[in-house]
Amino acid sequence: MPERPDASPGPGSPRGRRRYVTDPLLGTLAELQTIQPYNALKSYLCPGCNQEIRARTGHLVVVPLNHPDERRHWHKACYSRASRHGVVGR
Ligand SMILES: [Zn+2]
Repeated sequence: MPERPDASPGPGSPRGRRRYVTDPLLGTLAELQTIQPYNALKSYLCPGCNQEIRARTGHLVVVPLNHPDERRHWHKACYSRASRHGVVGR
């Protein structure tokens, strides 16, 4: 049986790819997850604009590492604005 070059998981492995960011609301370390449209089965409230993220819309989820219950769903545009400028008018 030939060796499979992709058998060993390495740092470049596409599986388990994670991005860590600072949560714009809590200011703590959080994991950023990208939700694809086909995985967005429910609608959510975006904390950046207080508007609904409709089902079947690709968006982002921010999961604080120390407070996983405080996960928030964001529009991509709202998240990038909040992560750059902070959240105002909460
Ligand atoms: Zn939004």
